[in-house]
Amino acid sequence: MRYEGQIYRPPSEAYSYILQVTVGCSHNRCTFCNMYLEKKFRIRPLEEILTDLKMARKAYRYVGRIFLADGDALIVPTETLLSILSHIARLFPECERVTSYASAKDLLRKTPEELKMLREAGLEMIYLGLESGSEQVLKAIDKGVTVEETVEGCLKAKEAGIRLSITQITGLAGQDGMEPHAVASAKALSRIKPEYIGLMTLTLRRGTKMTADWEAGRFKRLTPKQLVEEMRILVSHLDSEGSVLRSNHISNYVQLRGTMNRDKEAMLASLDKALKSGDLENEYIEYLENL
Ligand code: SF4
Repeated sequence: MRYEGQIYRPPSEAYSYILQVTVGCSHNRCTFCNMYLEKKFRIRPLEEILTDLKMARKAYRYVGRIFLADGDALIVPTETLLSILSHIARLFPECERVTSYASAKDLLRKTPEELKMLREAGLEMIYLGLESGSEQVLKAIDKGVTVEETVEGCLKAKEAGIRLSITQITGLAGQDGMEPHAVASAKALSRIKPEYIGLMTLTLRRGTKMTADWEAGRFKRLTPKQLVEEMRILVSHLDSEGSVLRSNHISNYVQLRGTMNRDKEAMLASLDKALKSGDLENEYIEYLENL
């Protein structure tokens, strides 16, 4: 398969065929993110995308899942997306689900009818980075959207029947904003009540503004113990009945998996156990920082 630059996908898309619909991220300004820094954003021509699909059909006997990359494939005009989804349905009748990353702005730009058409054409779930439920933090990281826009966009997608997998980043507000960031994130997630909540931990990536701020002493990162304490604050404030919560990303110090609100106490107990164990006095997961 032909791809342009480094390709990223959510952990749960490890066995999916990745179809590159856009190159890079249309925003590309979040201060902690270096995923698409080297790419100039563009939407790939439809003919190229369809050629890729035909090549994939020849190469793979079975394709159960397809993930539309790169950063925010939902920015693509609805008509083009519908054409891609109809080709997928025709070429890959065995495909059980199509998913993509999306930004809140992508969701707000589309009408409820457009989102419903996309869902009916096969777009089953989208992955969206909330990062924080705090307006102050979103501004500081230059996320380019407000919490209200994110909640509104997510509820619009839910209304259209599109499932949501939302990520939040522990440690993003540094030591000064730890508690308000966790409480506000729990509040925003509780309003959205997505099918999946993914907790990730901030890692300082090469070439980002956040890393430069940390090196210059302007950003005080959390210690591993504080990171787990912050995660505990979030889970204790979370009221998101039915959401599957996971912290299985490699950046996390404690792996959680459960369904809210049923497993909330068990998850809090896991976090308390980790906090009492003394293991968190260890250093950061340093190898991640060099990516
Ligand atoms: S975090 Fe998401 S929206 Fe922000 S720059 Fe990275 S890919 Fe783009």
